[in-house]
Amino acid sequence: MTTETTSNPFRGREQPAAILAEIIVEEGCREHPLAKEIIKRAGLPVRLLANDQSTGSADPFYAQNLSQGKRQLVLARNKGKFLKSCPGTREYLCCGYQVLNIGMNCPMDCVYCILQAYLNNPRLSFFINIEDMLVELTNALGQDRQLFWRIGTGEFTDSLVLDRLTGLSRILVEFMRDQPNGVLELKTKTVEIDNLATADHGGRTIVSWSLNSPWVIDRHELRAAPLSQRLSAAARCVSWGYNVAFHFDPLIYYPGWEEGYEETVQRLFEAVPRERIAWISMGALRFLPSLRSIVATRFPNVSFFCEEFVPGLDGKSRYFRTRRVALYRHLLQLIKRHAHPATCLYLCMESREIWQEVFGYSPEDQGGLSAMLDRAAGWTVAS
Ligand code: SF4
Repeated sequence: MTTETTSNPFRGREQPAAILAEIIVEEGCREHPLAKEIIKRAGLPVRLLANDQSTGSADPFYAQNLSQGKRQLVLARNKGKFLKSCPGTREYLCCGYQVLNIGMNCPMDCVYCILQAYLNNPRLSFFINIEDMLVELTNALGQDRQLFWRIGTGEFTDSLVLDRLTGLSRILVEFMRDQPNGVLELKTKTVEIDNLATADHGGRTIVSWSLNSPWVIDRHELRAAPLSQRLSAAARCVSWGYNVAFHFDPLIYYPGWEEGYEETVQRLFEAVPRERIAWISMGALRFLPSLRSIVATRFPNVSFFCEEFVPGLDGKSRYFRTRRVALYRHLLQLIKRHAHPATCLYLCMESREIWQEVFGYSPEDQGGLSAMLDRAAGWTVAS
């Protein structure tokens, strides 16, 4: 396990949110106490925006404006639902995750980020009406205490990248502390964990990091924390009593991928006590076809999108089956050398056949993928 000798091992790190240049506030939100707080913390120029012009309008020059959009943070109300089932597809085995939508887009800039093709507004947004979010969560979780909820905020943005400004993690972590039938996953590529240090989590929050090989992280995940910092942050969260999780997603094929992923797995288990890892997922690179041209425009020197891909049953482009299986099998045997037997190892959005080839069983043999993850989060059916 990594030992830390300084009081703040992340001193001097670059914060991804430091690229923000402007806060844009929807008119109806400007008097909201959280909006005022964020504006005060950010110390950036503020502009008012007429209601409804922030998150709803598509930008016809979206791809060209993405880099600039990442510098603008819109504070808006979410007038729809905060909580939705993960937009998985019927064709692949989904983990039954519930997405808590806290905002859109991200100040980091991963070359492969699917949000580049998924969203149509280049700006970042953060939903300010968290009082409505908490009411919705209370109602959902309270409906049937025999139903278990795995809830995550890292689907349409990074869970912690704006946390220094918003302070949302503490509110959610302390809300979940009192929910016996739910667990919150905060998924990040940052080391923005300060608010977690003193939050009273009651064991109901899992902090997770997306990991990749050092080659992918250093060259293709702009403004994200280096591997060593992510692992140190995970070790610190463990020291504060949190369980942690890791996502090897997207696995990318490139010359030297075997050694690259081996290094990451090795360093992961040196840094983090294995018995505190709730789950580790693997997902091979997959993307909406339109992403290819966006990446070609924004990152013309990136080569891994030049590989051959096949259209998946969900319309996303994927590596050929043999390549996906090779990636998964290699990583799985590396992880299995170290992993605790109780850690749930799983594939993100893959078919039963691929599970069978990689693991030698299908999730149904273990009660289904949702049940496997629920158990890893500490939920027992009889509770
Ligand atoms: S950290 Fe996640 S949300 Fe942010 S740019 Fe990278 S892939 Fe996209």
